[in-house]
Amino acid sequence: MTTVFTIASGKGGTGKTTVTANLGSMLAYHKKRTFILDSDMGMANLGLILGLENMPVTLHEVLAGKADIHEAIYEGPYGVMVIPSGLSLEGFKKSDPEKLTDILKDIVDECDYLIIDAPAGINHDGIVPLAIADEIILVVNPDISSLVDALKTKMLTEMIGGKVKGAIINRIGNVNDTNTRSQIEKMLGVPVLGMIPEDVNVRRASAGRSPVVSKFPTSEASRAFRRISASIIGVD
Ligand code: ADP
Ligand code: MG
Repeated sequence: MTTVFTIASGKGGTGKTTVTANLGSMLAYHKKRTFILDSDMGMANLGLILGLENMPVTLHEVLAGKADIHEAIYEGPYGVMVIPSGLSLEGFKKSDPEKLTDILKDIVDECDYLIIDAPAGINHDGIVPLAIADEIILVVNPDISSLVDALKTKMLTEMIGGKVKGAIINRIGNVNDTNTRSQIEKMLGVPVLGMIPEDVNVRRASAGRSPVVSKFPTSEASRAFRRISASIIGVD
């Protein structure tokens, strides 16, 4: 059975792409066959932070009907399979997000987990990744605008018949802050799956084109990502 997670937020810059890359890498580390896909077609960052920014075939070409999805899959850290989006605006214009649902049917049975990095904002293109997922994981920062936008995303998800698994609080000062945790759970009405600290190693790893979990495995952020992925797959 495949589980499809979409990583969403509402607000931009909360850490969706970071969570997609690191969670995906950790699930692959645990020998789960994992695909991560960049559905943020306008701001394609997933390939960029994994050193796959110059790939000849991307999701753009697939959504433009010019290539098969299997041609756009590249191996990343720990064997996670990455489907990047293209960086060109021309490619973005030609791609048709409506086709995503059909295209994913071709690969969904080939993996244990498919993780979709969603675009920010609530617009038509952003709905497709929410509708495709079995469960949505919200990535929030501990500030009010991020939380309000995440709440809107949760409501939208439920309006279209989707389910929110929970929220990851990213860029928090203190990962043991149980007050913030319970306040956010109350406000969003979903469980907090984990808290990731503000950690300079996250940006350092991206600059080195790797996820922090493989580049700096002993960092605080990596510890947090390991805890979250272990709890998702139910290992210690
Ligand atoms: P989104 O995909 O939601 O727009 P990104 O994952 O691209 O957000 O993250 C936005 C920026 O914040 C990036 O520069 C990233 O390196 C940085 N960032 C994300 N999470 C952390 C963290 N826990 N600590 C420090 N920097 C972070
Ligand atoms: Mg992003």
